[in-house]
Amino acid sequence: MSMSTMKPFQWTNAASVDQALALMAEKGTSLKAGGVDLVDLMKEQIASPERVVNIRAIRELDYVKLDDGDGSLRVGPLVTLARLSEEPVVRQKFAALADAAGHAATPQIRNMATLGGNLLQRPRCWYFRNQMFPCRKKGGEICYAQEGENQYHAIFNNALCAIVHPSATAAALVAMGATLQLASAKDKRDVKAEDFFILPNVDLHRENQLRDDEMITEIRVPALPASARSAYIKQGEKESFDWPIAECAVVIDRDGDKVKTASIVMGAAAPVPHRAKEAEKALVGQSISPDTARSAAKAALEGARPMANNRYKLALLETIVMRTILMAVGMSEAQSNGGGR
Ligand SMILES: Cc1cc2nc3c(=O)[nH]c(=O)nc-3n(C[C@H](O)[C@H](O)[C@H](O)COP(=O)(O)OP(=O)(O)OC[C@H]3O[C@@H](n4cnc5c(N)ncnc54)[C@H](O)[C@@H]3O)c2cc1C
Ligand code: SF4
Repeated sequence: MSMSTMKPFQWTNAASVDQALALMAEKGTSLKAGGVDLVDLMKEQIASPERVVNIRAIRELDYVKLDDGDGSLRVGPLVTLARLSEEPVVRQKFAALADAAGHAATPQIRNMATLGGNLLQRPRCWYFRNQMFPCRKKGGEICYAQEGENQYHAIFNNALCAIVHPSATAAALVAMGATLQLASAKDKRDVKAEDFFILPNVDLHRENQLRDDEMITEIRVPALPASARSAYIKQGEKESFDWPIAECAVVIDRDGDKVKTASIVMGAAAPVPHRAKEAEKALVGQSISPDTARSAAKAALEGARPMANNRYKLALLETIVMRTILMAVGMSEAQSNGGGR
């Protein structure tokens, strides 16, 4: 990677969380985990930190374990997407998270990219990424996507800024009811993943509620009931490493064959991982079949406001939501009943 277009900056390697947090108290500091997104942003001069604190070698932030007490999954933010997708405990008990991590980007990128960095990467909107466009998210007046090239943009909550949330693992973590632990030099707090990501009308310039002096120190996923199943599906455009044009994460718990609870989250749909509450309601009390999954998927798209070039997302997301629901319970579109794994 060429760093020729970057502004000069100071580089510090942090050996511990405490050291990183102390360094972050200074203005103009950015953390670097895998560096996949940060380096791109610096090359485009979308980010121009005065100091980069490299946290990649902080061993206390690199672990995957099941909590002995409550069976929850605890993941350090420096765990790579590759490792997350391969860990047996994640594959067996938290399949949607393993699949979301395992389908993001390319194998090479997954070896570098960390879970914390994946959650905090900036949006892919091409106007945002191009320094020639001083769009609303960057403090300007205009959202160029509204009248421009908006085929990859949001179909929900898109009036102010139409980014789609870029993180695959975020969709899975919201569906699973995960919590993020945030720490600063002064305090620690736990925030539900669902509340962590914020819409443009809450803050146009940020995609989440992390403060400048905070870092993510743990991602915790509650144990799913033994009867619950989860699934994740990504639809790319043409090649496997493409960004998703539709994605969905689902967690379904059943009592016999009737749905007790359902959590359905769409990616590539809105500026945050988009929870499809109407679809969830439509599934509860039903037994899952291609028909009930299709009805729920239709409900998931209610209220969508596509723009000129992204109407195709309505039908595509509907299909992806339906398939993810069926996949969670071990069924395919061709089956008329049964399944489960
Ligand atoms: C070609 C390509 C395709 C891609 N496809 C996908 C895809 O399909 N799905 C998907 O989800 N992603 C995709 N990505 C994005 C990629 O997964 C992310 O860029 C990567 O996960 C970022 O992780 P990182 O560790 O390199 O983050 P970094 O670049 O190191 O950091 C990103 C941001 O997070 C901050 N940060 C990192 N860790 C912490 C922490 N613990 N606490 C506080 N702040 C922190 C940094 O300060 C920075 O602001 C793709 C990327 C590329 C280049
Ligand atoms: S969608 Fe958001 S990031 Fe993209 S041009 Fe509009 S305001 Fe900027």
